[in-house]
Amino acid sequence: MAGLYELTGNTKHAIPMSGIYIHFPFCKQACHYCNFHFSTSFQFTQAYLEALHKEVSLRKGYLTEEVETIYIGGGTPSLMSVDALGNLLEAIANTYNVGANIEVTLEANPDDLSSFQNEYLQGLRSTNVNRLSIGVQSFFDQDLQFMNRAHSSKEAVAAIKKSREAGFDNITVDLIYGTPTLSDQGWMQNLQRLVDMEINHISAYALTVEKDTALEKFIRQGKVQPVDDHKSAYQFEMMVETLESSGFEHYEISNFAKEGFRSRHNSNYWKGIPYLGLGPSAHSFNGTERQWNVAHTPKYIKGLENDKLDCEIETLSVKDRFNEYVMTSLRTSWGVDIKYVNSQFGQEFVSHFESVAAEHLEETMVKKGEKYTLTGKGKLYADGIASNLFLV
Ligand code: SF4
Repeated sequence: MAGLYELTGNTKHAIPMSGIYIHFPFCKQACHYCNFHFSTSFQFTQAYLEALHKEVSLRKGYLTEEVETIYIGGGTPSLMSVDALGNLLEAIANTYNVGANIEVTLEANPDDLSSFQNEYLQGLRSTNVNRLSIGVQSFFDQDLQFMNRAHSSKEAVAAIKKSREAGFDNITVDLIYGTPTLSDQGWMQNLQRLVDMEINHISAYALTVEKDTALEKFIRQGKVQPVDDHKSAYQFEMMVETLESSGFEHYEISNFAKEGFRSRHNSNYWKGIPYLGLGPSAHSFNGTERQWNVAHTPKYIKGLENDKLDCEIETLSVKDRFNEYVMTSLRTSWGVDIKYVNSQFGQEFVSHFESVAAEHLEETMVKKGEKYTLTGKGKLYADGIASNLFLV
């Protein structure tokens, strides 16, 4: 269902929720591979912040239990001033039941953390932000230029160093592999650099060609060579081997953590725990319904000026919930739990899952007790295996 929804703050789905995602839809420049919702014009920043505060207050009834995690993503939320961030987090703390041991992650681009004498980072320390997700992507300038990132390799190193000096000890770094400009040796150096810098959490994604991006256009025009799936698969295997042998737990296909440093926010997503998404294009999930705010910042602002939220709501069937559970759990180290499938979806789903999973056993999946996980080879085909296991 699409439309403008009245926001009374007392929706009928007032059930326990545990996470809040906030989308900040502005960036300095457009990375060639990116299809997230963002704008490089800052014309609507102030109106967006006002609308966001309104959404924070009007959706109060959506959450009834303690909020364990807040994740501010984008876009580039490190372009938000410390005052704006502080005010936003304060408004959330005054509106929702925010736990004392909350994890608050801010996505940050290196150029925003390295260009000042630490004032910005010191300012962040005065807010509730206690985890930084730094979008390094590569330590090679040729890769960064290929991707049209706004920062250099030097700034990436400085950002990590300055964040540490400012007192942030919970830092995660994003990397991209499979880039045409990135050799296997270069990829190894990127990984080793993070290991040497004693980074505790790494998220790494294969370069993918999304629709309507500059990268897609350049490939179509023959200006850039297509992404090589074999190279991406090889670099994925290199990464798993290197990071596991350096003490990281490979706890989700794209995520590696040292002990005690898993992302609590993303782990909750993968465990199917409900969350509230604020801002244009943000998703919410309350256990039975999925909701998407409009991916258009002026429309988002206009709706909220009239106390309405421009969004789509989809009620999930039992099959939808089962399929989502399989898709997300299979990517994790805790896997698909048959007991959980039985208790949440019923015996019919257990029988279906086990009969299809039997075809994958040993080569791409393993069963330990009640749990099914992917083998090393299976991780390369996670999406295909998950869709085989869906009930349609
Ligand atoms: S900074 Fe992030 S959100 Fe912005 S264009 Fe680049 S990848 Fe996309």
